Amino acid sequence: MDKFAKNMKKLAFIVNNMIALYVVVFTIIFRYTSATYMFYVSLGALAYYLLANILIAKNKLSVYVASLYFVITMFMFAAAICVGLDAGFQMYCLSMIPLLFYFDYLGEKLNLSRIKSNPILFSILIAVTYFGCTSYVHVSGAIYEIPTNISVFLLVSNSLWVLMLLVFYSSFMVKLIRNSEKKLLDQAIMDELTKLYNRHYMLEQLEKIDEGDIHKQWVAILDIDNFKKVNDVYGHNAGDAVLVEVANIIRRVCADCHFARWGGEEFLVSSTTDKNYVELMEMLRSEVCKDPFVFDGQEIMVSITVGVCKCTSGERVDKWIQSADSLLYEGKNTGKNKVVSR
Ligand code: GH3
Ligand code: MG
Ligand code: MG
Repeated sequence: MDKFAKNMKKLAFIVNNMIALYVVVFTIIFRYTSATYMFYVSLGALAYYLLANILIAKNKLSVYVASLYFVITMFMFAAAICVGLDAGFQMYCLSMIPLLFYFDYLGEKLNLSRIKSNPILFSILIAVTYFGCTSYVHVSGAIYEIPTNISVFLLVSNSLWVLMLLVFYSSFMVKLIRNSEKKLLDQAIMDELTKLYNRHYMLEQLEKIDEGDIHKQWVAILDIDNFKKVNDVYGHNAGDAVLVEVANIIRRVCADCHFARWGGEEFLVSSTTDKNYVELMEMLRSEVCKDPFVFDGQEIMVSITVGVCKCTSGERVDKWIQSADSLLYEGKNTGKNKVVSR
């Protein structure tokens, strides 16, 4: 069982027993007000909540949720008819409808497919129950007349529960949406292996540079030398580890710059920092080849070749990158492990 499912189980236990405690209060109130039918309905509901702990313990969350809806709807129906609308039991349907949709989503996420919930159908059933009990009370009146102070107490506590459920549900859903959006956004703009931005995001950032700042901007393309050999000799996992390590060195040395994984074993660094960019790239190159990388007890010598140039205004981003790329090729063709600048 994964962490999410475990948390859900814990939450179900807490919620179930909190409702059970609340039903104990109802049972006492209905006994005290001689609302006999409701006293027995409450005893029945209490028995259900105690037995429901077994359902939760046996991981039958879908059965629990479906039966919970049934019990709450029936309780709401019976209570509204027995003690009237002033006690506010009919309001529970308001908080139950959004929860129906949430549980439907949760069932899909946890793969609880044995009971297929149908939130639209359940919502219609809840609405029918709601109109059924409210119409009955309007036409025939409630079965029992309970003292006003008890009715007010029930109205206030039922309203508080409904409001609490709605606030809890809404904030929880917004948090869920925000988290998923962030995860999706990260996946769309990040490289999974090195956790650097990807080419797509970097291009977008470069396109956004103000025309006035272009004269300060420079762009560098870095390519790991003989990387195919690293894979061939030490294995693909070693190659991946080298990529991660080079990304970490870029992160450390070029902390003030923008950088991204540009493709396979290529990276792009760009900035408007006043630092001498050739010196910075030279520092990066010497950091990479200074010590051997260690993977699985094996020492791997790694070096990079860098092409770096100033950006020229009036030219498009792909032209700057082309220029850096041709300098990189010049470096590759003249011995590698060097910085070629313009
Ligand atoms: P050069 O010095 O001219 O750049 O030679 P090279 O071997 O580095 O360049 P080449 O383009 O011949 O090979 C690049 C290799 O990078 C081939 C490809 O399998 C490998 N590669 C690309 N992406 C990944 C990756 O994510 N992980 C690993 N392990 N290898 C990768
Ligand atoms: Mg390459
Ligand atoms: Mg290479």
